[in-house]
Amino acid sequence: MDYLKVKGSILVVSGPSGSGKTSLARAVCEELGEKAYFSISTTTRPKREGERDGVDYFFVTKEEFLKDIEEGYFLEWAEVHGNFYGTSKKQINEALNQGKIVFLDIDVQGHEAVRAAYPDIVTSVFVTTKDKHTLIERLKNRGTETEDTLEIRMINALHEMKKIPEYDYLLINDDFEESKKYLKSVAISSLIKRSKYDLEKFINYWKGS
Ligand code: 5GP
Repeated sequence: MDYLKVKGSILVVSGPSGSGKTSLARAVCEELGEKAYFSISTTTRPKREGERDGVDYFFVTKEEFLKDIEEGYFLEWAEVHGNFYGTSKKQINEALNQGKIVFLDIDVQGHEAVRAAYPDIVTSVFVTTKDKHTLIERLKNRGTETEDTLEIRMINALHEMKKIPEYDYLLINDDFEESKKYLKSVAISSLIKRSKYDLEKFINYWKGS
């Protein structure tokens, strides 16, 4: 199968905080089991109640994060809402070599960087709510935001929405189960993206078989 440039694929899932993208991506990843790998990011953001180190994120100090940048640990990193977030390179490459669908729950800056690094194997989905009101309600119900952080997240949401044209798919997450089906089918389809193949090699192989 050396006509495949990379065995696996990358599925970038972005969208405003509160759009449900993380729950969707994790749920689909779980359904896909061995076929999928959910990348756990490193962050300097304080841990929220109920979050676990090494499960939700690798929580580090700003000093540790800066050291990781220096040591070339990240495929991409960005400052989001005043905190640093980064995607580590090593685990992703391992999962790609194993033919897995690598889920990246990252912001619009991360999407741009990952697409530039892996143009042939990235498929991207932007997840959002059907309107602004729904997003505000979801963030309030989550109970993790103060008035200030809610405002920052709403400003950022609109800024992120303007990047929708850069994405392959737009998923308006109104019904979780329905959205899960869409995301799962996009994830599976990402494995047969045409640009993953070295077509010259494939045609030569096909001719000679
Ligand atoms: P939260 O603080 O709500 O967990 O995440 C805030 C934002 O940071 C979300 O849009 C999330 O997708 C994004 N994010 C999480 N991890 C990474 C990462 O490794 N890189 C980038 N660029 N963004 C990330």
